Amino acid sequence: MAKEKKKKSFKKNLKIKKTKSAFFGVRKEADKPVVLAESEIVKTSKKTPQLVRGFKDVLPAEQKYFKFITDALEILAVDYGFEKIDLPLLEESNLFSRAVGKETDIVTKEMFTFETPGGERVSLRPEATASVARAYINHGMLNLPQPVKLYYNGLMFRYERPQSGRYRQFNQFGFEILGDKHPVLDAQMIILCHNFFKEIGLPVNVQVNSIGCNSCRKEYKVQLVNYYKTQKSNLCDDCKERLNKNPLRLLDCKEEKCAIIKEEAPQIVDWLCDDCKNHFVKVLEFLDEVELPYNLNSNLVRGLDYYTNTVFEIWPEGDEKRSQTALCGGGRYDNLIELLGGRNTPALGVSIGIERTILKIKELNLPVPERAKRDIFVAQLGEAPRRKSLALYESLRKEGIKICESFSKDGLKSQLEIAGKLGVRFTLILGQKELSEGTILLRDMEAGSQETINFNKVVKEIKRRLEQ
Ligand code: AMP
Repeated sequence: MAKEKKKKSFKKNLKIKKTKSAFFGVRKEADKPVVLAESEIVKTSKKTPQLVRGFKDVLPAEQKYFKFITDALEILAVDYGFEKIDLPLLEESNLFSRAVGKETDIVTKEMFTFETPGGERVSLRPEATASVARAYINHGMLNLPQPVKLYYNGLMFRYERPQSGRYRQFNQFGFEILGDKHPVLDAQMIILCHNFFKEIGLPVNVQVNSIGCNSCRKEYKVQLVNYYKTQKSNLCDDCKERLNKNPLRLLDCKEEKCAIIKEEAPQIVDWLCDDCKNHFVKVLEFLDEVELPYNLNSNLVRGLDYYTNTVFEIWPEGDEKRSQTALCGGGRYDNLIELLGGRNTPALGVSIGIERTILKIKELNLPVPERAKRDIFVAQLGEAPRRKSLALYESLRKEGIKICESFSKDGLKSQLEIAGKLGVRFTLILGQKELSEGTILLRDMEAGSQETINFNKVVKEIKRRLEQ
C-alpha cells in the first residue's frame, strides 16, 4: 500500500511534456500531456541541453558591438524625430500571411508557427513592420499628428538555413514613418541609413528601385511573365514556381542560369504610371540634392509583398553577393495598413540587420569602443579590511567615481593583476595595518608608486587626483 502511495506521488511530481505545439506545420498530436517515462527523465537530465540550431547566446565579449550599433542608431532616431515602440515577439500568424504575403518565402517556409494551449495559431515574428502596422491601427495612431515616426530594436526569427550572415534568430533595428506619402520621406529614410553606415565607418553603396503601385505593377507582371514563359525550360525549379506564384521574385534569383535570363527581362521602371514615375523621380532628386550616391537597380524587388513604389537596400561596398550581405532593406508600403483593416494610410520603413553589420565591422576591423573604463580598484587584505572596503566601495560609488573590485579574492597579487587587466589608474589597498592606523594605500598603476593617505580623506583625495 505504502509502495503504491509512493509511486503515485512520484508520478505527480513527474515533469510533463505537451506535444501540442508543432512547429512549422499542422498540429500532429492531440492535446494530451505526455508523461515522460522514468528512463527518459534520467537520460534527459544527464545530457546538457544545447542551443537550438540557428539560435545563439550573445556573450559578454560580443555586447560591445551591439551597444555600439544600437547607440549610434538611437542617436539617429532622436536626430530624425523617431520615437521608440516595443512590440511583442509573438503575433497571430495571419498577421504575417496577410502583410508579408501568403506566397513569400518568409510565410511559406520560414516562420516558427505553433498553436498555443488556448488554440490560437501564433508565430514568432519574422519581421516587425507588420507589427508596427497592426499597432498603428490597434492604438488609433491615425488620430495623432501625421506622420507618426517610430523605431524598434529587437529579435526576429526565420527558419532559414543557417550560414554566415543568415541566422534563425537575429536582431533588426527598424524605422517606420506612417501616415504620409511625400517622396521627401523616402529620401530621408535612405539618408538616415546612409548616415548610420558612414558614421560607424562602414563603406556602403545604396541600391534603389521603384516597384510602382498595384495597378502599374499588375501590367508589368504580365510583361514579365510573358517574357519568362519563353525561357521557362531554362529556369531553375524555384523560378518555375515563382513564375506562377510570385513573378517579381524572378528578378531576385541568384542562380547563374536565371541571372542571364534576367538581363533581358523587361524593367519595371519602364512600366511605371505617371504618379509612380513622378514619385520616384522626386525621391532621386532629393537624394541628388544631398549628393548621396546611389545605384538604380531595376532588379531590386525585395522579398515581401507589402512593398509599393520606392524600395532600397544598402550593401557593403564591393560586395556582390548581396543576398548574404545586404545590411538593410526597406521601402514604401502604402497599402499595408488598409490591407490589415485600417484606413488607407501611406507608410514606409527600413530595417537594419544588426548581426550582418557586426560581421562587416569585424571583417574590416573597424574601431568599436570598449566597455567604459574604470578608474579605481579597491583591494583588501583580511576579513576586517574586506568589511571596511565594502563600505568604502559604496561611498566612492555614491560620489560617481568609476570603481571596481574583486572582494572574494584574498591575495594582493591576484587583485593587482585584475586591476592591471581592467586598466585602472589607481588601486586603493586596505590591509590590517592601514585599518588600525586609519590610513589606506594609494597605488599609481602606471608609475608603480605607492603612498599612504588618511582613510577619512580618501574620497576627496581620489576626486582631486582624477581631475588632474
Ligand atoms: P528583410 O526584413 O528581409 O528586409 O531584412 C532586412 C535586413 O535584416 C537584411 O538586410 C539583413 O541585414 C537582416 N536579415 C534578414 N534576414 C536575416 C537573417 N536570417 N539573419 C541575419 N540577418 C538577417
